[in-house]
Amino acid sequence: MKRSKSSRRWLADHEDDEYVKRARAEGYRSRASYKLLEIDDKYHILRAGALVVDLGAAPGGWSQIAVKRAGSEGKVIALDILEMAPIQGVEIIQADFTEDSSLEDLLELTGESRVDLVISDMAPNLSGMKDIDQPRSMYLVELAYDFASRVLRRNGALLVKCFEGEGMEATRQLFRGGFDSVSNFKPRASRAASRELYLLGRGFKGR
Ligand code: SAM
Repeated sequence: MKRSKSSRRWLADHEDDEYVKRARAEGYRSRASYKLLEIDDKYHILRAGALVVDLGAAPGGWSQIAVKRAGSEGKVIALDILEMAPIQGVEIIQADFTEDSSLEDLLELTGESRVDLVISDMAPNLSGMKDIDQPRSMYLVELAYDFASRVLRRNGALLVKCFEGEGMEATRQLFRGGFDSVSNFKPRASRAASRELYLLGRGFKGR
């Protein structure tokens, strides 16, 4: 199939991208791995022995980091609507997080244990139209927050990808209600033109 000029430009930029090159050289499945590395190097949210749930996990760059840092005593559960190739030490659920049944699938794997950390890099397929993309993205953030409120242990943490725009201030407020500390972080590895930012709540106050 003939590629459009803009998709050829995207491919050329992608091939030139420092983090894409590093991910290939260092065996990470996506350049997103470097975002989580940066966040964890600053905030130390991935502890040895942790139970971690990774939402919107495919192709698996974050899960690779999570399983490495949680170590053999830890456990990582990854969920995505897309199929994801296995990663040693990661339990994978292929499901749509907006469906109620995905919650049951997740709870089946967490069992009675409380979760230490929920990380969500979920993003809707972007249409490029802010009025459509922003509410879709905020809906996924809200669902991730609701899920985290149900499963986190006291003092646990939640990291979510957001897009700056309508609804962000209300989301920050929501986080401030549920967590002792709330931070905004824009990793160096985020593409310069992207409005994405990560919201991190630490010190879950409990239900
Ligand atoms: N963190 C991943 C990594 O390091 O490789 C990259 C995640 S990618 C930016 C966003 C992911 O969110 C996509 O794989 C997409 O399929 C997933 N996603 C979007 N909506 C979803 C939904 N409703 N349920 C489950 N996954 C979803």
